[in-house]
Amino acid sequence: EKKALKRLVSEPSVTADHARVELAANIGSPHDAQLAKENGAEGIGLFRTEFLYMDRTDLPTEEEQFEAYKHVAETFGEHPVVIRTLDIGGDKELPYLDLPDELNPFLGYRAIRMCLDRPELFKTQLRAVLRASAFGNIKMMYPMVATLEELRAANRLLDETRAELREKGADFNENMEVGIMIEVPAAAVMADALAEEADFFSIGTNDLIQYTMAADRMNERVSHLYQPFHPALLRLIKHVIDAAHAKGKWAGMCGEMAGDPLAIPLLLGLGLDEFSMSAISILPARKQLKQLKQSEMKRLAERALELGTAEDVRAYVENELKTLQ
Ligand code: PEP
Ligand code: MG
Repeated sequence: EKKALKRLVSEPSVTADHARVELAANIGSPHDAQLAKENGAEGIGLFRTEFLYMDRTDLPTEEEQFEAYKHVAETFGEHPVVIRTLDIGGDKELPYLDLPDELNPFLGYRAIRMCLDRPELFKTQLRAVLRASAFGNIKMMYPMVATLEELRAANRLLDETRAELREKGADFNENMEVGIMIEVPAAAVMADALAEEADFFSIGTNDLIQYTMAADRMNERVSHLYQPFHPALLRLIKHVIDAAHAKGKWAGMCGEMAGDPLAIPLLLGLGLDEFSMSAISILPARKQLKQLKQSEMKRLAERALELGTAEDVRAYVENELKTLQ
């Protein structure tokens, strides 16, 4: 069983009807990159950079960051490595940043909001990512984007940073893809407009579910509302994927949902291009995909989208998968 899975390590991710998708890994530190590769990752779909900023007394330097990003890029060679810019603030405290206490941290000063407010901190990271882009296939994405203006403001700072690096003669990939996470419902709804100005989307369901259902992802008393299979969420996901494709862009997912064996058939049917998950889920997902037909999952997803509750969706998918076996 384990051996059979291991044989899939260097195989591509294809469905029974020859549709190709990408199975990538989520990592939280450069040390995880090797393990992700050994587990069959075809790339990194989410490199959380927060670790660089945590458990220390001051900000990481450009050089420290550059080394970390370069290491992961080199580990994956021509395969994509999606680096997410800093997603700190809210509940993730950094004492040396002097962040304000907030009544609603998840609705507060975090991620791209904080980065746009502290351009020097942000530009240090952008410089490090750009310089590392000369050493592999790095893509970059901004977390928690809620509006088009935020994407534009971040890209303005990125353009400034590019110009400064050019001035210095530093090497970087002029064509690095720059995408956004879709994890705020407003961004999901506005995906068509955002797709004009972003190179790709990565759907962050961990947050998108909590914001869509207005149910704190850490609060057990409302966890019954935290429903990955709720049709409201599935409809948003469909809208996001369709909006990306309509503009010739790709759409991935890096929330926990992307590695859930019950969600994978639905996501395949909705047309998701890239599934990014914890390393240990990759080979089981590759095995599962070999047994699924995208054409059939398309019909499955269409039906699921018309159901009224998360429970109905789960039951329907479970039942359909059983009859397919
Ligand atoms: C998400 O929100 O789905 C996500 C991948 O980001 P994080 O879990 O780091 O908030
Ligand atoms: Mg998130």
